[in-house]
Amino acid sequence: MPLSRDADYATYLYTCNRCRACTTVRDRPELPVCPSFDHLGFFAYSGGGKGYTAQGVLEGKVAPTLEAAKVAMHCTLCHACATMCPPGFETIHFIRDLRAWLVSHGVYANAAHHRLLENLRTKGNLTWGQAPNLTLAAESNEVEALLFLGCRFKLSQSALDGVLKIVHRAGAKVSVLEDEPCCGNPALELGDPELFIRLAEKTIARLNAAGAERIITLCPHCTSTLVNDYLEAGELKPEVIHLSEWIAELLEEGRIGLAETGPELSVSLHDPCHLTRYLERGEVLRQVLEQVPGLELREIERSGESAYCCGGGSFALEVAPELWRFASRERIQEARATGVQALVTACPYCQDSLSRAGGKRLEVIPLADLIAGRLD
Ligand code: SF4
Ligand code: SF4
Repeated sequence: MPLSRDADYATYLYTCNRCRACTTVRDRPELPVCPSFDHLGFFAYSGGGKGYTAQGVLEGKVAPTLEAAKVAMHCTLCHACATMCPPGFETIHFIRDLRAWLVSHGVYANAAHHRLLENLRTKGNLTWGQAPNLTLAAESNEVEALLFLGCRFKLSQSALDGVLKIVHRAGAKVSVLEDEPCCGNPALELGDPELFIRLAEKTIARLNAAGAERIITLCPHCTSTLVNDYLEAGELKPEVIHLSEWIAELLEEGRIGLAETGPELSVSLHDPCHLTRYLERGEVLRQVLEQVPGLELREIERSGESAYCCGGGSFALEVAPELWRFASRERIQEARATGVQALVTACPYCQDSLSRAGGKRLEVIPLADLIAGRLD
Protein backbone atom coordinates (compact mmCIF):
# COMPACT_ATOMS: atom_id res chain seq x y z
CA MET A 1 0.00 0.00 0.00
CA PRO A 2 2.41 2.76 -1.16
CA LEU A 3 1.74 6.42 -0.40
CA SER A 4 -0.36 7.68 -3.27
CA ARG A 5 -3.31 9.87 -4.10
CA ASP A 6 -5.42 6.76 -4.62
CA ALA A 7 -8.88 7.56 -3.18
CA ASP A 8 -9.26 4.39 -1.08
CA TYR A 9 -5.85 4.78 0.43
CA ALA A 10 -6.47 8.44 1.27
CA THR A 11 -9.88 7.65 2.75
CA TYR A 12 -8.32 5.02 4.95
CA LEU A 13 -5.52 7.36 5.97
CA TYR A 14 -8.07 9.91 7.14
CA THR A 15 -9.81 7.49 9.53
CA CYS A 16 -7.45 8.54 12.35
CA ASN A 17 -9.33 10.88 14.70
CA ARG A 18 -6.31 11.97 16.79
CA CYS A 19 -7.71 10.33 19.93
CA ARG A 20 -4.17 9.35 21.08
CA ALA A 21 -5.32 5.94 22.34
CA CYS A 22 -2.35 4.50 20.42
CA THR A 23 0.07 6.06 22.90
CA THR A 24 -1.05 4.13 26.01
CA VAL A 25 -2.02 0.64 27.12
CA ARG A 26 -5.69 -0.15 26.43
CA ASP A 27 -7.89 1.07 29.34
CA ARG A 28 -4.74 2.15 31.23
CA PRO A 29 -4.11 5.74 30.07
CA GLU A 30 -1.49 6.16 32.79
CA LEU A 31 0.77 3.53 31.13
CA PRO A 32 2.67 4.70 28.03
CA VAL A 33 3.11 2.08 25.30
CA CYS A 34 4.57 4.07 22.39
CA PRO A 35 8.30 4.60 23.04
CA SER A 36 8.52 7.31 20.39
CA PHE A 37 5.73 9.46 21.90
CA ASP A 38 6.87 8.62 25.43
CA HIS A 39 10.36 9.89 24.60
CA LEU A 40 9.52 13.21 22.96
CA GLY A 41 5.91 13.89 23.98
CA PHE A 42 4.61 15.37 20.71
CA PHE A 43 1.65 13.82 18.86
CA ALA A 44 3.71 13.89 15.63
CA TYR A 45 5.86 11.08 17.05
CA SER A 46 2.93 8.74 17.82
CA GLY A 47 1.52 6.21 15.37
CA GLY A 48 -1.46 8.47 14.67
CA GLY A 49 0.85 11.45 14.30
CA LYS A 50 2.92 9.66 11.68
CA GLY A 51 -0.34 8.98 9.82
CA TYR A 52 -0.97 12.72 9.92
CA THR A 53 2.46 13.36 8.45
CA ALA A 54 1.53 10.92 5.66
CA GLN A 55 -1.65 12.95 5.10
CA GLY A 56 0.54 16.04 4.82
CA VAL A 57 2.53 14.30 2.09
CA LEU A 58 -0.65 13.56 0.12
CA GLU A 59 -1.76 17.19 0.52
CA GLY A 60 1.63 18.56 -0.57
CA LYS A 61 2.19 20.16 2.84
CA VAL A 62 5.13 17.98 3.91
CA ALA A 63 8.41 18.13 2.01
CA PRO A 64 11.02 15.34 1.94
CA THR A 65 13.37 16.91 4.50
CA LEU A 66 15.78 15.65 7.14
CA GLU A 67 13.28 16.76 9.80
CA ALA A 68 10.55 14.60 8.25
CA ALA A 69 12.98 11.65 8.09
CA LYS A 70 13.84 12.05 11.76
CA VAL A 71 10.13 11.89 12.65
CA ALA A 72 9.55 8.84 10.44
CA MET A 73 12.58 6.96 11.77
CA HIS A 74 12.02 7.92 15.41
CA CYS A 75 10.04 4.72 15.90
CA THR A 76 10.87 1.10 16.65
CA LEU A 77 7.99 -0.26 14.53
CA CYS A 78 6.88 -2.03 17.70
CA HIS A 79 3.25 -2.31 16.48
CA ALA A 80 1.88 -1.14 19.86
CA CYS A 81 0.02 1.76 18.19
CA ALA A 82 -1.67 -0.56 15.67
CA THR A 83 -2.57 -2.99 18.46
CA MET A 84 -4.05 -0.29 20.72
CA CYS A 85 -5.85 1.85 18.11
CA PRO A 86 -9.64 1.42 18.70
CA PRO A 87 -10.61 1.68 14.99
CA GLY A 88 -7.69 -0.61 14.06
CA PHE A 89 -5.74 2.02 12.13
CA GLU A 90 -2.90 0.18 10.32
CA THR A 91 -0.19 2.57 11.43
CA ILE A 92 2.67 0.27 10.47
CA HIS A 93 1.71 0.50 6.77
CA PHE A 94 1.79 4.28 6.85
CA ILE A 95 5.02 4.52 8.79
CA ARG A 96 6.71 2.15 6.34
CA ASP A 97 5.21 4.06 3.39
CA LEU A 98 6.36 7.39 4.79
CA ARG A 99 9.89 6.02 5.10
CA ALA A 100 9.76 4.66 1.56
CA TRP A 101 8.63 8.04 0.22
CA LEU A 102 11.51 9.81 2.00
CA VAL A 103 14.11 7.28 0.85
CA SER A 104 12.78 7.53 -2.72
CA HIS A 105 13.72 11.23 -2.48
CA GLY A 106 17.20 10.34 -1.22
CA VAL A 107 16.46 11.50 2.35
CA TYR A 108 17.82 9.43 5.26
CA ALA A 109 17.59 10.02 9.02
CA ASN A 110 21.36 9.70 9.48
CA ALA A 111 24.49 8.16 7.96
CA ALA A 112 23.78 4.75 9.55
CA HIS A 113 20.36 4.64 7.89
CA HIS A 114 22.00 5.26 4.51
CA ARG A 115 24.83 2.78 5.15
CA LEU A 116 22.52 -0.06 6.20
CA LEU A 117 20.40 0.33 3.08
CA GLU A 118 23.47 0.63 0.83
CA ASN A 119 24.84 -2.62 2.26
CA LEU A 120 21.55 -4.31 1.51
CA ARG A 121 21.44 -2.91 -2.03
CA THR A 122 25.01 -3.77 -2.95
CA LYS A 123 25.69 -6.93 -0.92
CA GLY A 124 22.20 -8.28 -0.27
CA ASN A 125 22.65 -8.36 3.51
CA LEU A 126 23.55 -6.12 6.43
CA THR A 127 27.12 -7.51 6.47
CA TRP A 128 27.16 -7.83 10.22
CA GLY A 129 28.78 -11.24 10.01
CA GLN A 130 29.25 -14.45 8.10
CA ALA A 131 27.09 -17.53 8.60
CA PRO A 132 28.68 -19.85 11.17
CA ASN A 133 30.10 -23.09 9.89
CA LEU A 134 27.36 -25.39 11.16
CA THR A 135 27.70 -29.14 11.09
CA LEU A 136 23.99 -29.83 11.04
CA ALA A 137 23.39 -30.95 7.52
CA ALA A 138 21.46 -34.16 7.24
CA GLU A 139 20.72 -35.87 3.94
CA SER A 140 18.23 -33.64 2.20
CA ASN A 141 15.59 -36.36 2.01
CA GLU A 142 15.83 -36.87 5.78
CA VAL A 143 15.56 -33.25 6.86
CA GLU A 144 12.52 -32.54 9.03
CA ALA A 145 13.05 -28.79 9.06
CA LEU A 146 15.30 -26.04 7.89
CA LEU A 147 16.68 -23.62 10.47
CA PHE A 148 16.59 -20.02 9.23
CA LEU A 149 19.21 -18.25 11.34
CA GLY A 150 18.66 -14.58 10.49
CA CYS A 151 21.32 -11.87 10.49
CA ARG A 152 21.72 -11.59 14.27
CA PHE A 153 22.44 -15.28 14.77
CA LYS A 154 25.04 -15.14 12.02
CA LEU A 155 27.10 -12.84 14.22
CA SER A 156 28.59 -15.56 16.37
CA GLN A 157 28.69 -19.30 16.70
CA SER A 158 28.28 -19.04 20.48
CA ALA A 159 24.85 -17.42 20.08
CA LEU A 160 23.75 -20.73 18.60
CA ASP A 161 25.06 -22.98 21.39
CA GLY A 162 21.71 -23.32 23.17
CA VAL A 163 19.82 -23.97 19.94
CA LEU A 164 22.32 -26.61 18.83
CA LYS A 165 22.17 -28.39 22.19
CA ILE A 166 18.38 -28.64 21.85
CA VAL A 167 18.70 -29.85 18.24
CA HIS A 168 21.15 -32.60 19.21
CA ARG A 169 19.23 -33.67 22.32
CA ALA A 170 16.01 -33.97 20.29
CA GLY A 171 17.85 -35.96 17.64
CA ALA A 172 16.36 -33.56 15.13
CA LYS A 173 17.45 -33.73 11.51
CA VAL A 174 17.68 -30.12 10.48
CA SER A 175 19.74 -28.21 7.98
CA VAL A 176 20.67 -24.62 7.21
CA LEU A 177 21.06 -22.84 3.88
CA GLU A 178 24.58 -22.35 2.66
CA ASP A 179 25.23 -18.58 2.52
CA GLU A 180 21.78 -17.93 3.94
CA PRO A 181 20.26 -14.84 2.27
CA CYS A 182 18.60 -11.94 4.10
CA CYS A 183 14.84 -12.34 4.68
CA GLY A 184 14.41 -8.75 3.44
CA ASN A 185 12.85 -7.32 6.60
CA PRO A 186 15.55 -4.61 6.96
CA ALA A 187 14.74 -3.25 3.49
CA LEU A 188 11.05 -3.04 4.39
CA GLU A 189 11.69 -1.32 7.70
CA LEU A 190 14.38 1.05 6.45
CA GLY A 191 12.30 2.31 3.53
CA ASP A 192 13.07 0.39 0.31
CA PRO A 193 10.02 -1.81 -0.46
CA GLU A 194 11.20 -2.59 -4.01
CA LEU A 195 14.46 -3.94 -2.64
CA PHE A 196 12.42 -5.97 -0.14
CA ILE A 197 10.49 -7.63 -2.97
CA ARG A 198 13.73 -8.47 -4.82
CA LEU A 199 15.35 -9.95 -1.70
CA ALA A 200 12.16 -11.79 -0.71
CA GLU A 201 11.73 -13.33 -4.18
CA LYS A 202 15.28 -14.70 -4.08
CA THR A 203 14.90 -16.03 -0.55
CA ILE A 204 11.53 -17.63 -1.30
CA ALA A 205 13.11 -19.44 -4.27
CA ARG A 206 16.01 -20.70 -2.09
CA LEU A 207 13.68 -21.82 0.71
CA ASN A 208 11.24 -23.59 -1.63
CA ALA A 209 14.13 -25.33 -3.43
CA ALA A 210 15.57 -26.59 -0.12
CA GLY A 211 12.74 -29.13 0.00
CA ALA A 212 12.00 -28.95 3.74
CA GLU A 213 8.35 -28.99 4.74
CA ARG A 214 9.01 -26.69 7.63
CA ILE A 215 11.14 -23.63 8.39
CA ILE A 216 12.11 -22.84 11.98
CA THR A 217 13.13 -19.20 12.26
CA LEU A 218 15.41 -18.21 15.12
CA CYS A 219 14.48 -14.52 14.99
CA PRO A 220 10.84 -13.34 15.31
CA HIS A 221 11.55 -10.54 12.81
CA CYS A 222 12.25 -13.23 10.19
CA THR A 223 9.18 -15.20 11.33
CA SER A 224 6.76 -12.31 10.87
CA THR A 225 8.41 -11.33 7.59
CA LEU A 226 8.13 -14.86 6.16
CA VAL A 227 4.57 -15.33 7.46
CA ASN A 228 3.06 -11.87 6.89
CA ASP A 229 5.14 -9.86 4.43
CA TYR A 230 6.04 -12.63 1.97
CA LEU A 231 2.36 -12.72 0.98
CA GLU A 232 3.21 -9.70 -1.21
CA ALA A 233 6.31 -11.31 -2.74
CA GLY A 234 5.39 -14.86 -3.73
CA GLU A 235 4.36 -18.28 -2.49
CA LEU A 236 6.48 -19.73 0.29
CA LYS A 237 5.56 -23.41 0.45
CA PRO A 238 6.97 -24.65 3.79
CA GLU A 239 5.19 -23.98 7.07
CA VAL A 240 6.97 -21.30 9.14
CA ILE A 241 7.26 -21.40 12.93
CA HIS A 242 9.44 -19.62 15.46
CA LEU A 243 12.06 -21.44 17.53
CA SER A 244 10.00 -21.01 20.72
CA GLU A 245 7.05 -22.81 19.10
CA TRP A 246 9.35 -25.67 18.12
CA ILE A 247 10.74 -25.90 21.67
CA ALA A 248 7.16 -26.09 23.02
CA GLU A 249 6.40 -28.86 20.54
CA LEU A 250 9.57 -30.83 21.42
CA LEU A 251 8.63 -30.65 25.11
CA GLU A 252 5.05 -31.70 24.44
CA GLU A 253 6.11 -34.66 22.30
CA GLY A 254 8.72 -35.74 24.85
CA ARG A 255 11.59 -35.36 22.38
CA ILE A 256 13.36 -33.24 24.98
CA GLY A 257 12.79 -33.29 28.73
CA LEU A 258 13.58 -30.93 31.58
CA ALA A 259 15.52 -31.87 34.71
CA GLU A 260 13.12 -32.35 37.63
CA THR A 261 15.31 -30.30 39.89
CA GLY A 262 17.15 -27.18 38.93
CA PRO A 263 18.41 -24.02 40.59
CA GLU A 264 15.64 -21.74 41.86
CA LEU A 265 15.41 -18.75 39.54
CA SER A 266 12.94 -15.87 39.39
CA VAL A 267 12.47 -14.36 35.95
CA SER A 268 10.36 -11.89 34.05
CA LEU A 269 9.51 -12.27 30.40
CA HIS A 270 10.07 -9.59 27.79
CA ASP A 271 7.59 -10.19 24.95
CA PRO A 272 9.21 -9.62 21.54
CA CYS A 273 7.02 -7.29 19.44
CA HIS A 274 7.18 -9.42 16.30
CA LEU A 275 6.17 -12.63 18.05
CA THR A 276 3.53 -11.14 20.34
CA ARG A 277 1.92 -8.30 18.39
CA TYR A 278 2.76 -8.90 14.71
CA LEU A 279 2.08 -12.66 14.90
CA GLU A 280 -0.03 -12.95 18.08
CA ARG A 281 1.90 -16.11 19.02
CA GLY A 282 3.57 -14.82 22.21
CA GLU A 283 1.68 -17.03 24.67
CA VAL A 284 3.89 -19.97 23.68
CA LEU A 285 6.73 -18.33 25.64
CA ARG A 286 4.73 -18.57 28.86
CA GLN A 287 3.71 -22.15 28.07
CA VAL A 288 7.40 -23.08 27.88
CA LEU A 289 8.50 -21.15 30.96
CA GLU A 290 5.69 -22.58 33.10
CA GLN A 291 7.10 -26.08 32.53
CA VAL A 292 10.57 -25.32 33.91
CA PRO A 293 11.02 -26.78 37.44
CA GLY A 294 12.42 -24.25 39.92
CA LEU A 295 11.49 -21.28 37.76
CA GLU A 296 9.23 -18.52 39.07
CA LEU A 297 7.72 -16.23 36.43
CA ARG A 298 6.83 -12.73 37.62
CA GLU A 299 5.06 -10.69 34.97
CA ILE A 300 6.14 -7.14 34.17
CA GLU A 301 3.22 -4.71 34.46
CA ARG A 302 3.25 -3.99 30.71
CA SER A 303 3.36 -7.48 29.20
CA GLY A 304 1.80 -9.56 26.44
CA GLU A 305 0.24 -7.34 23.76
CA SER A 306 0.78 -4.34 26.09
CA ALA A 307 4.54 -4.89 26.41
CA TYR A 308 6.77 -1.84 26.12
CA CYS A 309 9.31 -2.29 23.30
CA CYS A 310 12.96 -3.04 24.16
CA GLY A 311 13.91 -0.07 22.00
CA GLY A 312 15.94 -2.14 19.56
CA GLY A 313 13.32 -2.63 16.85
CA SER A 314 13.72 -1.20 13.36
CA PHE A 315 17.46 -0.71 13.84
CA ALA A 316 16.84 2.12 16.31
CA LEU A 317 20.15 1.37 17.98
CA GLU A 318 21.85 2.82 14.91
CA VAL A 319 19.17 4.90 13.21
CA ALA A 320 17.55 6.52 16.29
CA PRO A 321 20.10 5.92 19.11
CA GLU A 322 18.52 8.38 21.57
CA LEU A 323 15.17 6.62 21.24
CA TRP A 324 16.90 3.24 21.77
CA ARG A 325 18.69 4.51 24.89
CA PHE A 326 15.46 5.91 26.37
CA ALA A 327 13.25 2.89 25.63
CA SER A 328 15.75 0.18 26.60
CA ARG A 329 16.48 1.84 29.96
CA GLU A 330 12.75 2.23 30.59
CA ARG A 331 12.19 -1.47 29.90
CA ILE A 332 15.09 -2.60 32.11
CA GLN A 333 13.85 -0.37 34.92
CA GLU A 334 10.37 -1.85 34.63
CA ALA A 335 11.72 -5.41 34.66
CA ARG A 336 13.93 -4.71 37.68
CA ALA A 337 10.89 -3.40 39.58
CA THR A 338 9.60 -6.99 39.71
CA GLY A 339 12.67 -7.92 41.78
CA VAL A 340 13.59 -10.88 39.57
CA GLN A 341 17.05 -12.34 39.08
CA ALA A 342 16.90 -12.40 35.28
CA LEU A 343 14.91 -11.38 32.24
CA VAL A 344 14.07 -13.91 29.52
CA THR A 345 13.36 -13.10 25.90
CA ALA A 346 13.23 -14.93 22.58
CA CYS A 347 14.44 -12.39 20.03
CA PRO A 348 18.07 -11.61 19.22
CA TYR A 349 17.30 -7.91 18.75
CA CYS A 350 15.60 -7.70 22.18
CA GLN A 351 18.48 -9.73 23.62
CA ASP A 352 21.09 -7.32 22.26
CA SER A 353 19.17 -4.18 23.17
CA LEU A 354 18.28 -5.24 26.72
CA SER A 355 21.70 -6.79 27.47
CA ARG A 356 23.38 -3.53 26.55
CA ALA A 357 20.94 -1.52 28.66
CA GLY A 358 20.84 -3.96 31.58
CA GLY A 359 24.59 -4.41 31.86
CA LYS A 360 25.47 -5.97 35.19
CA ARG A 361 22.21 -4.82 36.79
CA LEU A 362 20.00 -7.46 35.16
CA GLU A 363 20.99 -10.60 33.28
CA VAL A 364 19.08 -11.19 30.04
CA ILE A 365 18.76 -14.84 28.99
CA PRO A 366 17.63 -16.19 25.60
CA LEU A 367 14.78 -18.70 26.02
CA ALA A 368 16.70 -21.36 24.06
CA ASP A 369 19.75 -21.02 26.35
CA LEU A 370 17.55 -21.27 29.45
CA ILE A 371 15.92 -24.46 28.18
CA ALA A 372 19.22 -25.92 26.95
CA GLY A 373 20.68 -25.41 30.42
CA ARG A 374 17.78 -27.25 32.08
CA LEU A 375 17.60 -30.35 29.87
CA ASP A 376 17.53 -33.68 31.70
S1 SF4 B 1 -3.95 6.00 15.23
FE1 SF4 B 1 -5.84 5.25 16.19
S2 SF4 B 1 -5.50 5.48 18.40
FE2 SF4 B 1 -3.93 6.74 17.35
S3 SF4 B 1 -4.82 8.80 17.26
FE3 SF4 B 1 -5.37 7.75 15.34
S4 SF4 B 1 -7.39 6.80 15.70
FE4 SF4 B 1 -6.54 7.36 17.72
S1 SF4 C 1 5.31 1.50 16.04
FE1 SF4 C 1 5.74 1.70 18.27
S2 SF4 C 1 7.26 3.37 18.44
FE2 SF4 C 1 6.36 3.49 16.37
S3 SF4 C 1 4.71 4.98 16.56
FE3 SF4 C 1 3.79 2.93 16.85
S4 SF4 C 1 3.84 2.57 19.09
FE4 SF4 C 1 5.21 4.30 18.64
